[in-house]
Amino acid sequence: MILGSGPAGYTAGIYAARANLKPVLITGFKRGGIPGGQLMTTTFVENFPGFPTGVKGPELMDLMKSQAIRWGTELVEEDAEEIDLSKRPFQIKTTETALKTHALIIATGAKANRLNLPNEKRLWSNGISACAICDGATPQFQNEELAVVGGGDSACEEAIYLTKFGSHVHLLVRSNQLRASASMTDRVFANPLITIHWKTSVIDVEGEQWLESIRIHNADQHSQSSIPIKGLFYAIGHTPNTELFSNQLELNRKGYLFTAPGRPETSLEGVFGAGDVIDSEWKQGITAASSGCKAALAAERWLSKNELSTLIKRTEVEPQQPTKAINHETSTKENFAQDAIWQKGSYALRKLYHSSNKPLVVIYTSPGCGPCHVLKPQLKRVLKEFKGKVQGVEIDIEKDQEIAKQANINGTPTVHLFREKALLKEWKGVKQRSEFKDAIINTLKGSQ
Ligand code: NDP
Repeated sequence: MILGSGPAGYTAGIYAARANLKPVLITGFKRGGIPGGQLMTTTFVENFPGFPTGVKGPELMDLMKSQAIRWGTELVEEDAEEIDLSKRPFQIKTTETALKTHALIIATGAKANRLNLPNEKRLWSNGISACAICDGATPQFQNEELAVVGGGDSACEEAIYLTKFGSHVHLLVRSNQLRASASMTDRVFANPLITIHWKTSVIDVEGEQWLESIRIHNADQHSQSSIPIKGLFYAIGHTPNTELFSNQLELNRKGYLFTAPGRPETSLEGVFGAGDVIDSEWKQGITAASSGCKAALAAERWLSKNELSTLIKRTEVEPQQPTKAINHETSTKENFAQDAIWQKGSYALRKLYHSSNKPLVVIYTSPGCGPCHVLKPQLKRVLKEFKGKVQGVEIDIEKDQEIAKQANINGTPTVHLFREKALLKEWKGVKQRSEFKDAIINTLKGSQ
């Protein structure tokens, strides 16, 4: 069994499946980030070998997922809630099911840190975000001054990305140097729309309904000041996701899962670590994938040595064809379909909003947004189950700025449920399928 669906988890899945071990991979859902891991919230990955012109983070994760499935990895798209490593086989409870395994690969990654400022909670999602790639295109940030906290690759990437939308971006760095790679640093220095504030930390955020300004402290001048900004984005590193097994396995001084350098074995036989959860130093997609490979090979050897492996016989010698996501065209006057379950764009939204009496689900997305990428297929699955009684429309807020503004969208993904022009419910971020299902059932019941 494999816990985690980043590059480490999927690579472990590919190797274990090709060894005919029929691995089960628990993708995670909300705990510790999003399925697909941190690459789901980056724009272009330009250093993963095999993609000379770069590849979008979510696209790379889709490819890895599809490769793991193709070779027979079974996915459980839920969170692991409890793990008991005190007896064998190990027991894992997920949101909906209980599973047992002789060998476990932990590839749970790390999640984004927050500053925990006094007024942060109140203004979270109202100007403060941990994902510039998901939220940068929202109308409230257009032509406004914005700020990013951090000095690593994420902070630099986000600052550059935000210059597409904001009038100016302040990069707030607590030390006097950037930790980002040389190529990323060069891009930041060369961008006239970015100002770097060295030795600067954020003390608090200010504003009533929406972020208006930040209070900062400059350590060189021992002074405080305010910068008026409409958006603040955190890129201050990550904390490993070890809380499910912190009292069952040895952790290192920094809280990462302990393994000997370069090896996947943890302090407990049969449990292996891979990816960022064991790595406080390199933290790259490629190093995570490599450690996922090692963990699967080590698990296979360990299972064989202990005569615990049951190899699955394939019915077909060749694996199945990889799955491909269906890309819907934006609806126009010519191709709009009144009864289609899923359509895209403002034309379809306007038509259905005004003329349909069925419940209407609208998902607001932005192109590079990983969480949108995760939620969209889940939502499509839900709508399909209702066999045409409910319809869905996707709005890309970068393309349909005006609609996003009217709908008051301040982050993606956001989902709205309408019935006869009335907004019945709003969801922000990735939610379980059951939440949408229950709300739709209630809406349909209400109209009977
Ligand atoms: P990093 O850990 O590399 O950087 C975190 C940054 O946040 C550091 O500059 C750190 O400052 C700062 N920081 C931490 N805590 C605070 C705080 N409380 N207040 C203010 N600043 C704080 O994390 P990243 O997410 O940037 O990168 C993680 C890994 O992913 C790296 O290996 C990176 O190379 C990789 N990556 C690669 C990308 C690419 O190639 N396209 C894109 C994004 C990430 P200090 O330096 O003072 O500790």
